[in-house]
Amino acid sequence: MGSKFNIATENEILEGLASDVYFQRSISASAEHDMDRDVAAEVTVSGPLDTWVNFSGLDEVIGILEGHELNLFAIPEGTIVESRDSRGIPVPFMRIEGKYSQFGNLETAVLGFICQASGISTYSARIRQELGTTPFYSFGIRRMHPAISPMIDRSAFIGGADGVSGILGSRIIGHPPVGTMPHALALMLGDQKAWEVTAKAAGKGAKSVLIDTFNDEKFAALEAARAIPGLDFIRLDTPSSRRGNFPALIREVRWELDLRGYRNVKIMVSGGLRLENLRELKEAGAEAFGIGTSISSAKPFDFAMDIVQIDGKPITKRGKFSGKKDVLRCRHCGKTYVTPAGQESHKCECGGPLENLMKEYIRGGKIMSKYPDAETIRKRTLDELALRSTWKDQPS
Ligand SMILES: [Zn+2]
Repeated sequence: MGSKFNIATENEILEGLASDVYFQRSISASAEHDMDRDVAAEVTVSGPLDTWVNFSGLDEVIGILEGHELNLFAIPEGTIVESRDSRGIPVPFMRIEGKYSQFGNLETAVLGFICQASGISTYSARIRQELGTTPFYSFGIRRMHPAISPMIDRSAFIGGADGVSGILGSRIIGHPPVGTMPHALALMLGDQKAWEVTAKAAGKGAKSVLIDTFNDEKFAALEAARAIPGLDFIRLDTPSSRRGNFPALIREVRWELDLRGYRNVKIMVSGGLRLENLRELKEAGAEAFGIGTSISSAKPFDFAMDIVQIDGKPITKRGKFSGKKDVLRCRHCGKTYVTPAGQESHKCECGGPLENLMKEYIRGGKIMSKYPDAETIRKRTLDELALRSTWKDQPS
C-alpha cells in the first residue's frame, strides 16, 4: 500500500474497484456463458418512506458512466420529489440502459454517489424550508473524511445553504469560502486583536467575529460591537456545558445590543445545531446559522438499483415494478404519476399539465448537453421549495 490515506483513487473508482465483489463476478459469469444481456436498470429508494428527496449526486454518476456504451436517464439534481408516486409506486430517480457488462460493476459506486449526496442535500433543503430566507452555512466537513469534503459542501449548497466553509467545496460552488474565526485565534492573540485581524481580513465582505472564547456572551458582544466599527455579525458558539437555555441567551444578547444602538450587529449561532432546534433560535433573534455535523452526517438514502427489463422484455425481481418508467408531475397540484416509459398522458386528474421529470443525460456513452453549475442547481431547489408551498395535501 503506497497510499497514506484509506481512500479509493479516482482511477480505482472509474475501474469499478470501489465495488462489491459479486458485481464483477456477475459480469465474468455472464460473459463466460455468452449471456451479456441488454438490460435496463432503475434506481429507486428502498423501504417505506413518507418524505421527499432533494436529488443530488448525479454529476458524479455521469462522471463514472460517460464513455461506456449505455444511455442514462435521470431526474435532474435539485428536483424535490417523493420516493413514491400518488398511488404508492416507487419513483425511479435514474435509469441506465445498455449491456450489463458496461455498468454492472459500477453499481456500488453509482449508488454511493447519490445515496450520500441526496441525504445531505435533502437535509439542507429541509433547513432552507425551515429558515425561509435566513442565511445558513455548511460548517460540517471536519466531521467527515476529508476526501469527500467537496461533495459534502456541494450537496449542502445545492440543498440551499448560502455558503460553505471548506476551501475545496467553495471552488466547486463558485463562491468564496465563509467563516468567522476559530477560538484558536482568540486564544493566541486575545479577543481584541483577534477581532481586529478578522474584521480587516473580511475586506468588503461581512465582518463577523466569534465572541465567546473567554467571557460571558452579553458583555463580550457589547465589547466587540464597540471595538469593531461596522461589525456585521457576532457569532455565538457557546459550548454545551454553558449553554443552558440558548434561546434565552440569544434574546438577552439581542436586547442589550439593541438598547445600545447596535441593531445592525446581527447574531450568528453555531455549534451542534440540528434542524429541530432552528425555529426557536431564529424566533429568539438568531439571524444566521453555521450548521455542521447534522448536515455533513445527514442520513444517506437507501437507493437501490434493479434490472427492470432484459432484451426488451419487462422483468424484475420480487417486490419491484418491471419495465422502463417515466415520472410525470403536475405543476398545479404536485401529484406525481409513475407510468410506463413513453406512454405519457398530458393531463393530471386536476386538469393541470404533466411534465416528465426523467431527462436524458447520456446517449451511447456521450453526454447530451452542458451540465448546469452548482448555482443553477441550487436555484432549482429553491424553485422546487417555492412550488411545493403552492400545493395542498402534499407530504411536508
Ligand atoms: Zn394536478
